[in-house]
Amino acid sequence: MAQLSPLLKQATPVVVERGEGVYLHDTTGRRNLDFTAGIGVTSTGHCHPRVVAAAREQIGKLIHGQYTTVMHKPLLDLTERLGEVLPPGLDSLFFANSGSEGIEAALRLARQATGRPNVVVFQGGFHGRTVAAATMTTSGTRFSAGFSPLMGGVHVAPFPNAYRYGWDVETATEFALRELDYLFATVTAPNETAAFFIEPVLGEGGYVPANTAFFAGLRERADRHGILLVIDEVQTGFGRTGKFWGHDHFDVRPDVVVIAKGLASGFPLSGIAASTELMSKAWPGSQGGTYGGNAVSCAAAAETLSVIKDEGLVENAAARGEQLLAGARLVADKTPRIGDVRGLGLLVGSEFTTEDGQPDNATAQAAQKAAAERGLLLLTCGAHMNVVRMIPPLIVTAEQVDEALEIWADAVASVTKN
Ligand code: PMP
Repeated sequence: MAQLSPLLKQATPVVVERGEGVYLHDTTGRRNLDFTAGIGVTSTGHCHPRVVAAAREQIGKLIHGQYTTVMHKPLLDLTERLGEVLPPGLDSLFFANSGSEGIEAALRLARQATGRPNVVVFQGGFHGRTVAAATMTTSGTRFSAGFSPLMGGVHVAPFPNAYRYGWDVETATEFALRELDYLFATVTAPNETAAFFIEPVLGEGGYVPANTAFFAGLRERADRHGILLVIDEVQTGFGRTGKFWGHDHFDVRPDVVVIAKGLASGFPLSGIAASTELMSKAWPGSQGGTYGGNAVSCAAAAETLSVIKDEGLVENAAARGEQLLAGARLVADKTPRIGDVRGLGLLVGSEFTTEDGQPDNATAQAAQKAAAERGLLLLTCGAHMNVVRMIPPLIVTAEQVDEALEIWADAVASVTKN
């Protein structure tokens, strides 16, 4: 008899049978409120009827088109549709399957287009689990421990993580930019640096938003030195933060965006977008994969874009995000064990700390477990796994947010009594 490998570490011991909107129905017959959305993947909710219908229709016509062999219509249609929402100037797309593959595609593009070997990433960032993406990931040593040597050419600069440093955002930002310049002076010369890779909000790293001044500093240095600014929108894109792109909050122009997750409502699909000029500097045929840009995923993604627009999901994420953040702050006000609540749109994190302000993984895990026992699925994140995050589907209603907050308050109270 076969069983699942013990390599798999699961956040919640739930076996799901059926997903519907914001709910996951498990094999015990329980309806769980899903505030994980598959780490932000099920943007339109579980099994949105329009996405299901689009995928069903596509399955009957063409499942796999292998884009390095023949082009297929769903991929062309999706490319055209994405043109309506991509940042200005980013008019060229390449598709893959996962966020990690998208990051690798952007890395290859950056190195080929600039002819430079190094990249700079920002501490606390998560970019994936393939060896290159894991090398670029600094949101926890658990993502890279034990399989070194990692890839060369990746250098780490500070992220303006004000709460962690105990500073205000301005001080943290000045520090981070100063350290970046020091990195350029001491470790990787600007003219050997191909790209910055950054998330608008540290996702796995603990739901820490960047800020406008920091992005302005990066953009200025990118322009001065011919470095590409690659923004990882894998977790933050497609309305998640209450604006279409996470970086829309920070008034910055990316050279490349990496997209995945919310793009296709659960079907595996990722991509990179850049200007045609930049893409033309890389080498044709150097990218691709058997399953990249799968026809059913593309059809589901095109319908996802329509649903996001028709149902006003970006606006809903903004409104429900404010409600969720305010409610989570009220819960934190009742206990000294939650040191910070932060987020952007429907990305809300509550950071647990001990009495003397140290990261408190045990209480965060206990609160997550207590919430799950009460029918609310949540995830943890952060280098110390001491941030409990809420990341519901973008279709979540005001009533469902209230219901989740009620459960959350009860769960937190149950683990922080004394
Ligand atoms: N980048 C970010 C910002 C992510 O959040 C993730 C996944 N959590 C990835 C990249 C990697 O995506 P995947 O798991 O699909 O490889």
